[in-house]
Amino acid sequence: YKRRTKVKILAVGLDNSGKTTLLKKLRPKKADLSTVPTVGYEFESFSKNGVAFDCVDMSGQSKYRNLWEHYFTDTDGVIFVVDATDKLRFVVVREELETMLSHQEFSRRKIPLLFFANKMDLHDAVTPNELLATLQLDDLAHPWRIFASNALRGEGLEEGVGWLVDAIA
Ligand code: GDP
Repeated sequence: YKRRTKVKILAVGLDNSGKTTLLKKLRPKKADLSTVPTVGYEFESFSKNGVAFDCVDMSGQSKYRNLWEHYFTDTDGVIFVVDATDKLRFVVVREELETMLSHQEFSRRKIPLLFFANKMDLHDAVTPNELLATLQLDDLAHPWRIFASNALRGEGLEEGVGWLVDAIA
């Protein structure tokens, strides 16, 4: 994927879903990496092919929700990482998704959403189809796709991000 103008993609997801691992795989070796400490948690950014990636941990951040304003305002696309083996927290994932979508930026703009059903290599991972049913993705008013991924090996990542960058175009 290549774009002439810079786009900003935000990676979100519960803790332990695989965001750090996934972004590390996406990141070019020589990328200009910056970790900006914000109030209470770390915020990581890098650029690749004109695409700026930012990463935010979502769970337990309710007291920092006022900062979301700042992130979502200039976000062109979202990568939502889900641990496909963490069935007990699928309900929390759905809640966090709804909270994010209730933000005014998401009602103003059809920001595309890329879901990764991550940790596909593990035997107890649910399939992307099962995950989309559980999370009720069918009723989203945004362009969205779900891909299986193995962030440890980088499988599924380029395919998914390629779709997202195209969807933003
Ligand atoms: P974050 O909290 O969302 O940033 O999650 P991390 O990237 O730190 O990953 C949490 C744990 O899950 C780490 O032990 C990773 O090695 C592991 N992990 C991440 N992605 C995968 C994956 O696709 N498969 C497996 N088996 N483990 C993964």
